[in-house]
Amino acid sequence: EGIVIAIDGPSGSGKSSTSRGVAKARELRYLDTGAMYRALTWWMLSQGVNVNDADAVTALVDTPVITMGTDPGAPSVAVDGRDVAAEIRGRDVTTNVSAVSAVPAARERLVRTQREIIAAARAESAGIVVEGRDITTVVAPDAPVKLFLTASPEARAQRRSREVRSVDVAATQADLARRDALDSSRAHSPLRQTEDATELDTSGLTLDEVVALVVKLADE
Ligand code: C5P
Repeated sequence: EGIVIAIDGPSGSGKSSTSRGVAKARELRYLDTGAMYRALTWWMLSQGVNVNDADAVTALVDTPVITMGTDPGAPSVAVDGRDVAAEIRGRDVTTNVSAVSAVPAARERLVRTQREIIAAARAESAGIVVEGRDITTVVAPDAPVKLFLTASPEARAQRRSREVRSVDVAATQADLARRDALDSSRAHSPLRQTEDATELDTSGLTLDEVVALVVKLADE
């Protein structure tokens, strides 16, 4: 049976680059669960569903087929056979994904799918790195390696600014602070830091350094 490495953290903590880097280094599969919430949100919007209507979201939650490609060198996401990798990074989806991810039926459906992907990867490969907000607590609480990545507000804003190619780091930092406040006040906020996950502050570290630290933890 393959290993499971569970990685949670807020946006800008270095989760995605770290997870992919570790999966490549250890020849593991890779699953971006945020992309699944984004894909479900993209489909709801494409159907004209009011995503703030929890009953409407719940009624349709099982209809789209979401397919995740778990190669860390080329991860993919498709809805009903259509590649939506570019669409799910758009503003529309980013603005509306919180509403969809707050619907319990949406979480139940995606957590079920995530566990299926994890089980298949463990059976067929050396294992899988899974990143998100509730992997260490809900999706794979029994994972032998559990990490909670953090970073200073400045480091998160710098990374995020690079991602979205903005030069206004101060504005990005203010935006992240606003989203953190929103996320932590939400009743269904999935991000929870627990004692049994190893906290790793990535602020002063390069990507290679963080990947090496996680690989070392996984080898212990
Ligand atoms: O990681 P990413 O920014 O792509 O995640 C998009 C959104 O999906 C998050 O802001 C959160 O609302 C939701 N999400 C979640 N649970 C996860 C991963 C993502 O609720 N495990």
